[in-house]
Amino acid sequence: MKITSPQFDEDEIKLLRQCLDSGWVTQGALTRQFEELFGNRHSVRYALATTSCTAALHLATMALGLGPGDEVIVPAFTWITSAHSVEYTGARAVFVDIEPETFNICPEKLEMAITPNSKAVVVVHLFGLSAKMDEILNIAQRHNLFVIEDAACAVGSHYDGKPVGGIGHIGCFSFHPRKVITTGEGGMVTTNSEDYAKAINSLRNHGAAGMPKYSQRPYTMATFDKIGYNLRLSDIQAAVGVAQMSKLDRLLNERKLLAERYNQILADIDEIALPYVPNKCAHTYQAYVIRILSGGMSERNKIMDYLESLNIETRPGTHAVHRLGYYAKKYNIKPEQYPVAALCEDTTITLPLFPGMTQEQQLYVAEGIKKTLLL
Ligand SMILES: *Cc1c(COP(=O)(O)O)cnc(C)c1O
Repeated sequence: MKITSPQFDEDEIKLLRQCLDSGWVTQGALTRQFEELFGNRHSVRYALATTSCTAALHLATMALGLGPGDEVIVPAFTWITSAHSVEYTGARAVFVDIEPETFNICPEKLEMAITPNSKAVVVVHLFGLSAKMDEILNIAQRHNLFVIEDAACAVGSHYDGKPVGGIGHIGCFSFHPRKVITTGEGGMVTTNSEDYAKAINSLRNHGAAGMPKYSQRPYTMATFDKIGYNLRLSDIQAAVGVAQMSKLDRLLNERKLLAERYNQILADIDEIALPYVPNKCAHTYQAYVIRILSGGMSERNKIMDYLESLNIETRPGTHAVHRLGYYAKKYNIKPEQYPVAALCEDTTITLPLFPGMTQEQQLYVAEGIKKTLLL
């Protein structure tokens, strides 16, 4: 049993054929359509497609002008690029521990980590659960911090009724195959700021400043006043993205129903904590992550080994990034500095959850966990 699987059908094939038949395969009309659908769905003024969420985060940190001397706060439990995107600019990623119940950044600890050099915070809506944005925005406003939402897992999620991606200054989404919808590889930057949108549009396209309107002649070329990159999504990928957007609500609904069913059938196991959704928050269940409450990493590994023997694929939740070599060495960080992140890396399991999963399959997973706990 796979941990997840993308959902494709004739919709993707039809749009791919339309793209290939048109002869236009780089960023073009289909990318614009994808961006428009995505921006409307997330109630933001600007949505700009890019090659991955990592690229989206990089574009965000560049558009905000972060650089050497700046500190940017990042949760210690996340995918590594939440931090890498800060370091690309020469700014420093400063870690903050998470809450064990939500796996998201702890607002109190966030405030304690702020120094005169703090410029921004990367708020991760981990596994699709929106972070506590009221508390975080309040702190960010009082300390004049930019808020980047790493919404890689959170396509279609919301906080207090407001879609994620447009709550902070800039939002970043992923269309990697393990996320809610996929284009193979792909990402999206969202913002309500025209200035950031313009900067990102230029940075993803070599730093092009656009075509001068007064002389549209065959020999007219764009000007380049700043350095930039090629981080454009292709229309081939956008074709898949447009088709995926039409399935988004159905996919989110199905993930939610599957999560609720897991919640029911796992409820009687005292040794594990199930996903927790605080007031005002919403969850996409991009990943359904449980935490083993006793026995630590060895008990967790025992369960994962046994599930593997049943042909059930699982993974740890994600990384305690501060323990990874690059950060641990560069900043001389001790593993115990962020104990909750470390504990969560060692004791979490992502269970299989995919559209089309049957009740039988979910019961099979639950039985596997129960049997291991009796061993
Ligand atoms: C998947 C993920 C990313 C990276 O997304 P890519 O599109 O693979 O670059 C970033 N942050 C988080 C929290 C993720 O889960």
